Amino acid sequence: ALPLLESAREVATHCPYCALQCGMTLRETPQGRVEVAARDFPTNRGGLCQKGWTSAELLDHPERLTTPLVEGQPATWDEAYDFIVDGVRRVQDAHGRDAVAVFGGGGLTNEKAYTLGKFARVALRTANIDYNGRFCMSSAAAAGNRSFGIDRGLPFPMADIAEADTLLLIGANVAETMPPFARYLTEQRQRGGTQIVVDPRATPTARAATLHLQPTPGTDLALALGLLHIVVAEGLTDPAYLAERTTGWDAVRKTVAGYWPARVELLTGVPVADLEATARALAAADRAIILTARGAEQHAKGVDTVTAFINLALALGLPGRPGSGYGCLTGQGNGQGGREHGQKADQLPGYRKIDDPAARAHVAGVWGVDPDSIPGPGLSAYELLDALGQPGGPKAMLVFGSNPVVSAPRAARITERLKSLDLLVVCDFFLSETAAIADVVLPVAQWAEEDGTMTNLEGRVLRRRALRKPPPGIGTDLAVMAELASRLGRTGDGRSVTGGERSGGFSAEPYAVFEELRRATAGGVADYAGVTWERVDAENGVFWPCPAADRAGTPRLFEEGFPTPDGRARMIAVEHRPVAEEIDAEYPLYLTTGRVLAQYQSGAQTRRIAALPGGPFVELHPDLAERLGIDDGDPVRVLSRRGEMTAPARVVTTIRPDTLFAPFHYSGTGRANSLTGDALDPISRMPEFKVCAVRIEPVTP
Ligand code: SF4
Repeated sequence: ALPLLESAREVATHCPYCALQCGMTLRETPQGRVEVAARDFPTNRGGLCQKGWTSAELLDHPERLTTPLVEGQPATWDEAYDFIVDGVRRVQDAHGRDAVAVFGGGGLTNEKAYTLGKFARVALRTANIDYNGRFCMSSAAAAGNRSFGIDRGLPFPMADIAEADTLLLIGANVAETMPPFARYLTEQRQRGGTQIVVDPRATPTARAATLHLQPTPGTDLALALGLLHIVVAEGLTDPAYLAERTTGWDAVRKTVAGYWPARVELLTGVPVADLEATARALAAADRAIILTARGAEQHAKGVDTVTAFINLALALGLPGRPGSGYGCLTGQGNGQGGREHGQKADQLPGYRKIDDPAARAHVAGVWGVDPDSIPGPGLSAYELLDALGQPGGPKAMLVFGSNPVVSAPRAARITERLKSLDLLVVCDFFLSETAAIADVVLPVAQWAEEDGTMTNLEGRVLRRRALRKPPPGIGTDLAVMAELASRLGRTGDGRSVTGGERSGGFSAEPYAVFEELRRATAGGVADYAGVTWERVDAENGVFWPCPAADRAGTPRLFEEGFPTPDGRARMIAVEHRPVAEEIDAEYPLYLTTGRVLAQYQSGAQTRRIAALPGGPFVELHPDLAERLGIDDGDPVRVLSRRGEMTAPARVVTTIRPDTLFAPFHYSGTGRANSLTGDALDPISRMPEFKVCAVRIEPVTP
């Protein structure tokens, strides 16, 4: 830790990036420089990764936006607001209310995510709001809701992970994506625990594990079914748990009967002996935990894949047992809170369903509007982006905290869709690739310049604290929404307001917004009614659900039962199915995409930090490289049916010979999402980011 500087101002807060939300202290020196120190918090226990250590460099970055831009030219805030309001009115008058869309982000604070959902439905009166979390967590969320009746990434505190006897991680490379988390894995192994990692690549996480299963991309579902087959065949299920705490077991048992080990080895490429070792290690453990992440979830069958692993956990009697269970590792900073408060197309605050009359009546009461005025469900993220500028689709979009030009699948097509809009507005602090093509760009505050709350991957609500005010001329997302609602004359009747600068129903003050959020979520699945900023400060975070100020939060779920009508978990029979785009003679390789240690999401922030190394690359196996005459470092072109990317080759033995890997953080010719496809999961509407068919060729001078 840094020594405390005399006369420095300091604040205890959290990292701006991933869902681990590591504790950090920010200190402003007398010279105005901001320094980062690691702070002990349950998720990071005093550790930070290089992204966190360097995060303060963004605050005074020379590329920071300092003034609104209208059609690429500096403008006053008044001019920018007038331009937006005129554009919104013109588009809605000509094409209807749903012709204006909103796109949010999983990094927005709870207060912003809540206000954004309200802004879309009350101020814009549009059904079309969704967010980039659809590309991140939606499959695990849908599976959790379907099986458990609730979606909370980890239904237990992270500390349980270190104490598991057996840990099965599917598609999670935490050693690179959230390094302080890897300490829990190290501790689990040091305690003698068995750790099994499923990943098509021998990532640093996989290499450290007791056992690495390296399946063909897109076959995790078959793998899960095969593991459950072995558990059944060897009599390793927990019959009492299945009888008392679940429904649907008979149908699941019949389905997995068809996934005998030799067949699953053929489907997945994972040897029978490894399948058996995994099933037996899970069954033999007193404490066993199964965790999925994007590798298992970002598929057109992501919901069923997660469901199959939940079925496995239920058959073994894990969920609700002390130190055991199934969990999902959320990715974005507020990936959990961001999906609870209404910026999803089909949701209202408190994880309420937007088509539920009782939910609409409750939220309408808080917002001070007629329940019938709240629009119904809108389009999911990819479908929304793909409809932009198309007949019947939105003609205007407001983007907060997202950069879909880099992060959306089939990105070249989505970029063209965004360019075709009559009005594109982006709130950001840098000129991201999406902001660069916007009609209006509004410069907004960064994480260290405003207060708020985040909800981490454990469901723990925590406080983000401002170290200093935003620089002159820079606004905040909340102020932008409040001002636009006011200028549009659509603020609700204001009955919900408890404070803040704005009149009407929108406050620019995070505290006031959170107080309203508490009322809006009261009685919902994600109930924050008893969470206050004061409690969060005093208790090192509060776990939801927390329905009353005099009630403790809920670190562990499912101990007594599941939040389903009959209190039992629902086991759903699912079947393996092929990937959306199989390899063939023209495109004979699988491409899988992912992250690297030094970069975060679309890279709009981390690519601007000089101390964070990196650039696009393509990993391929030495056998493939030799066959194609490619040496390490050679420029290569990767092509799919949707586009191409070029980048230096990385020849590595850690990848399967039939698979390429490219990180998705980069833009321009190195943009991996130029290649990815738009097949969607039928339930979560998650695109199949993790596998598509490609070919690779050397770039000849
Ligand atoms: Fe922690 Fe994630 Fe920030 Fe790294 S990026 S310091 S793991 S919160």
